[in-house]
Amino acid sequence: MGNTGRKGLSLARRLYTSRVLGLVLGLLCVSVSMYSLDPPLWVWALMLFNGLVWPHLAYQLARRARVPFHAEHRNLLIDAFFGGFWVAAMHFNPLPAATTISMMAMNNVAIGGLRFLLAGSAAQLLGVGVGLVVFAPAFIPQTTPAQMYACFPLLLLYPLALGWICFRQAYTLGVHKRELLALSRTDSLTGLLNHGAWKDQLEIAFQRCIRQKQGAAIALIDIDHFKAINDTYGHVAGDIVLRQLSKMLKQNLRATDVAGRYGGDEFCVILPELPLFNAAQAMEALRERFATLGYEQNPALKVSLSIGLAAYDPAHPDATRWLSDADQALYEAKASGRNRVICNCDSLPKQPLLGLGVR
Ligand code: GH3
Ligand code: MG
Repeated sequence: MGNTGRKGLSLARRLYTSRVLGLVLGLLCVSVSMYSLDPPLWVWALMLFNGLVWPHLAYQLARRARVPFHAEHRNLLIDAFFGGFWVAAMHFNPLPAATTISMMAMNNVAIGGLRFLLAGSAAQLLGVGVGLVVFAPAFIPQTTPAQMYACFPLLLLYPLALGWICFRQAYTLGVHKRELLALSRTDSLTGLLNHGAWKDQLEIAFQRCIRQKQGAAIALIDIDHFKAINDTYGHVAGDIVLRQLSKMLKQNLRATDVAGRYGGDEFCVILPELPLFNAAQAMEALRERFATLGYEQNPALKVSLSIGLAAYDPAHPDATRWLSDADQALYEAKASGRNRVICNCDSLPKQPLLGLGVR
């Protein structure tokens, strides 16, 4: 079933509940108003059909239709036609007539906005026209107390039910919107932030460094000879390596650190409020742990990382410059033999950690 089909079916399901309630309460309102007019048997039969049978029939017709959305549109026009017909049949008795018209208008606006309101009003007018021909009604300017009380359940309960349905729908839409937003910021393979979302976080971190005059470091992490891993062990094995690295990032970083997949086999991390030396130690530990990782499916597979680090510098004109410092450090890590951490700074001690190079 296509998207329109599913949309139509869910509309039919939503309308089923509101139609059952609205038409049963409408039956009470109309039948009490009609009672004093002593209508013929076929009118009673039509009233019962409209109030008790039609909601279920309409649902079944929509469910079985090739395009349920179109069937439901037609059902709504039939609802409106009947509404107009009963308004004329009740001889335009003010309160039941106003109740019927306003409940239908509310229903049509809630479901299809102005377009449904206009289409429904046209169908209602047609119903009034047919009612005029059939009943030749005289205007009854008064509503008796019994007729008024018979309108109350419809007036009180139907807006409540429709409001509740609309609220549930708005709530579900809100949940879906949040889920979609999260999805649009997530890399599907690794579950980390994707390129765009991580760059947004970098901008935020950069602004925070300026405002709070505090330090932070960023790291660009690239898997060494990843293309060869794909070529030798296949892309599935390559994907497992990418997932392993993202898992390690999630497990080994602090809650405040922000990891993302920059693209391909390149990852990126923001390490807020961490002196560069400590950031370098954290990245060195990551490099070492990743290099000793074993892969069940491919025991011979060994993977190393090259990591470029850069500290925030108040002289950076923007976050892009900060990022390009890290990129330069990564380039040097690759150029000087891979499997190492290189920092783009002058402040680290000249005794580097094992595998840790200092520019
Ligand atoms: P270097 O040590 O210089 O980084 O070499 P490299 O082979 O890692 O670098 P290169 O950029 O040439 O290769 C990256 C490869 O990553 C190329 C691309 O096919 C592969 N790749 C990118 N995205 C994915 C992915 O989602 N899954 C897998 N399995 N491979 C990917
Ligand atoms: Mg690579």
